[in-house]
Amino acid sequence: MQYIDKTKVEIKNQAYDLLSSFIEGQWQEEDCRYVNLTYEDFRNDALRDLLLEEQHHYCCYCMKRILNKETTLEHIVPNKSDDTTLIDKYIPYGEIEDSVFFWERKKTYSTKFVMPPFPHILAYENLVASCNGHIPEGGVGKHCNNARGNQDIIPLFYIEDIHKEIVYEPNGTIKCGAEYFPTIKALNLEHATLQLFRRCWLNLPSKYTDRDVEKASKDENLRNEIIDDMDSGHIALSDRTTMQNTVYWSSFVNYFWFYFYKKENE
Ligand SMILES: [Zn+2]
Repeated sequence: MQYIDKTKVEIKNQAYDLLSSFIEGQWQEEDCRYVNLTYEDFRNDALRDLLLEEQHHYCCYCMKRILNKETTLEHIVPNKSDDTTLIDKYIPYGEIEDSVFFWERKKTYSTKFVMPPFPHILAYENLVASCNGHIPEGGVGKHCNNARGNQDIIPLFYIEDIHKEIVYEPNGTIKCGAEYFPTIKALNLEHATLQLFRRCWLNLPSKYTDRDVEKASKDENLRNEIIDDMDSGHIALSDRTTMQNTVYWSSFVNYFWFYFYKKENE
């Protein structure tokens, strides 16, 4: 997993400009209130692209490489909640304490905000880019933002040394402290296919690179060669059969972050 630093001025200022201009545009002077100030009314494409750039196009949770259309924006303090105390759980993390306030959707705000802080439904510090959670599993599985819903989590990407806290084992499972178990479960990060993909990247024979894996999406012979060469101690016969399937292999390719993770930890 990677640490996401929300203090970098260049991206932050661009995000603040986008958000401020939307929020100010929703203010109705004659009624002295905000109208249609919701996340759903905000056109998020430009903000989404900024967050993707900030995260080097990796999902904040599963580290899949994500492109624009398969990206969802994850609210750390959930978007739709009426529990005003919810933000308290997230205050110790990232820049939430100073930059985010809990926006009560049923309340009428009769004065304009001075930003920051920004309402949690739109705050840059409360938003990260997540994959859409689609993964092959016979049908289509769910993980990350899509699995979490409004469940409580620890925002792992706001822990500076998260790379030491979350360790990926050669069998593809996650090793971490017990305090993170409920979060891993809420995000379904131990989904069998995610484990399989991590296992295959972590056991990729050293004569192949991430480029070869990508090439093998269209080159079945190369794919079979790579699969045959994988360490049989970790990659079972059933894994090999699954990985021969083009749908699985094409999805697997996007998890190449684990290739670099392995190289860094060798
Ligand atoms: Zn993900």
